[in-house]
Amino acid sequence: MRVLGIETSCDETGVAVYDTARPGPEGLRAHAVYSQIALHAEYGGVVPELASRDHVRKLLPLIRQTLAEAGLTTADLDGVAYTAGPGLVGALLVGAGVARSLAWGLDVPAIGVHHMEGHLLAPLLEDPDLKPPFVALLVSGGHTQLVGVDAIGRYRLLGETLDDAAGEAFDKTAKLMGLPYPGGPQLAKLAETGTPGAYKFSRPMTDRPGLDFSFSGLKTQVLLAWRDSDRTDATRANIARGFEDAVVDTLAIKCQRALDAAGCDTLVVAGGVGANKRLREKLHAIADKRGGRVCFPRPALCTDNGAMIAFAGALRLEAGQSAGREVHVQPRWDMASLPAVQPATA
Ligand code: ATP
Ligand code: MG
Ligand code: FE
Repeated sequence: MRVLGIETSCDETGVAVYDTARPGPEGLRAHAVYSQIALHAEYGGVVPELASRDHVRKLLPLIRQTLAEAGLTTADLDGVAYTAGPGLVGALLVGAGVARSLAWGLDVPAIGVHHMEGHLLAPLLEDPDLKPPFVALLVSGGHTQLVGVDAIGRYRLLGETLDDAAGEAFDKTAKLMGLPYPGGPQLAKLAETGTPGAYKFSRPMTDRPGLDFSFSGLKTQVLLAWRDSDRTDATRANIARGFEDAVVDTLAIKCQRALDAAGCDTLVVAGGVGANKRLREKLHAIADKRGGRVCFPRPALCTDNGAMIAFAGALRLEAGQSAGREVHVQPRWDMASLPAVQPATA
């Protein structure tokens, strides 16, 4: 089954074709992402209305480009998957409207995909042998969650952030030290040149039981450290390193707790912060020590992309699920409410 995937939940237009006849990364026939970063940079954050309008401009050309790269035409498609939520309502409606109309015109089924399920399943696109049960750490710009995955489509929330998401904390911390938007990846790059231990920040909520997170206090600690410092480039790098180590340690401590609680040794990491080099190294070291495994998508599939939507949509379409004919989006959507994915013949 060849499925077109469309992602427009925020500030990236993502399109991909996934072919279930070729399991694993080979199934990804083509994918392309257009980032609106430059458009929003002068505002220091995503402007929802500008995001919607840019998706309108970019989506159709990107679909044509992706199909051409895959050597396919719309007639080769067996289904269309789109991000139905969570996300910005106007941005979601652009993708959903195009996807639903295309599927109707081609007389193929369409499916609305949960954006975080897309992130969560991206590591399975890379590794077809990876199967539930496992624990997933979702770390992105809008979410920080630990999820118990009993089966594909059966998700239990084990813990989540009470305030800022990990990616949001990276972005806000970068901004307050004067790094240009979006600062997360730049802060991580700067941290590589910083001296470990020069600045020591707390590991929030690790001193008590539980699997929830809180990152907003860390941002305040950085603000005070930066304010009272000499503000040189070297100090900025040292603070960046101290901040990154605090976030990575905190995530790692909670991941170990979640694995212990679940009696499980497989950890799956997804979302933009999953591209962070130090987080990848730390979680690999922990997995080696436990004799377990940790799986990440390649960095390009950690941040928003159409491939994860095509893949997650293909699993659901193959199971016989599909959306109605109306254009329906859910800006807020609880992942635990998703239906399980079962074979159509069951
Ligand atoms: P959500 O998926 O929750 O709706 P989103 O789609 O905006 O949010 P993603 O695209 O998954 O989030 O990830 C973007 C986030 O990842 C940003 O906050 C960015 O700063 C962060 N990020 C990307 N690369 C890195 C990195 N190397 N180190 C730390 N953070 C990173
Ligand atoms: Mg984005
Ligand atoms: Fe995302």
